[in-house]
Amino acid sequence: GVSVAIENVTKIYELRDGSDLLALDRVDLAIAPGAFVAIVGPSGCGKSTLLSLVAGLAPVSTGKILIDGEEVKRPHEKVGVVFQTDLLLYWRTVMDNIMLPVEIKGWRRQDYLPKAERLLEQVGLAGFAGKYPSELSGGMRQRVAICRALVQEPGLLLMDEPFGALDALTREQMIADLQAMWLSVGNTVLFITHSIEEAVFLADRVLVMSPRPGRIDLDRTIDIERPRS
Ligand code: ADP
Ligand code: ADP
Repeated sequence: GVSVAIENVTKIYELRDGSDLLALDRVDLAIAPGAFVAIVGPSGCGKSTLLSLVAGLAPVSTGKILIDGEEVKRPHEKVGVVFQTDLLLYWRTVMDNIMLPVEIKGWRRQDYLPKAERLLEQVGLAGFAGKYPSELSGGMRQRVAICRALVQEPGLLLMDEPFGALDALTREQMIADLQAMWLSVGNTVLFITHSIEEAVFLADRVLVMSPRPGRIDLDRTIDIERPRS
């Protein structure tokens, strides 16, 4: 995994009526390589904003974000992202969806096919490579989105409420199934959720964001010790 340093980051949105909205206020956070960090907080506290800045999808207003010491200015090679909705292309098969990042990067598809097949197997979708998204359930599609993020072997996996759109049972099942997988991948993970249960179950470190303006509440950070294989 890679290291992430968020240094004194502020994000201000300019609203259409001309006013400013302070979404993140001087956020500081250092994430060690291989750490699994969860950020929890109520809706609107700035979680998605923080993730989009780390992903290089939007610029910081002030401060700096570094991935392995390199300032983030645009989407980074080493980063994979999973959003709340799966964002699969419905006209492409499962395998062709998983191969998108590989194609975009201009890598050779055949070099990544075995990896993609292994990932599908790990998420319980062996044999689904040739299916189309419309043939899968919401939970299955989200698993495919996770495979797509992981096929490029990202040093950093960013997840924004990846289970948010799923019903409670599917959600629980998926978290249980995927936990072992996260632990074996070895990449750094930044995971955003409004569920404290999910955060505590999956992460090594849980950070709480307080809203208006979004700040990480350091007094409420907890480190969770868990056995690692
Ligand atoms: P969370 O992910 O914790 O729900 P967000 O990062 O989505 O929080 O939002 C933080 C604040 O910034 C909210 O007040 C939201 O309305 C505002 N916001 C988010 N994205 C934008 C945007 N693109 N333009 C303007 N305001 C935004
Ligand atoms: P979440 O709570 O899951 O972050 P939101 O409903 O807050 O979801 O935001 C959904 C999308 O809308 C995000 O991409 C966010 O950046 C954008 N957004 C949120 N608030 C605003 C806003 N006030 N103006 C423009 N875009 C916004």
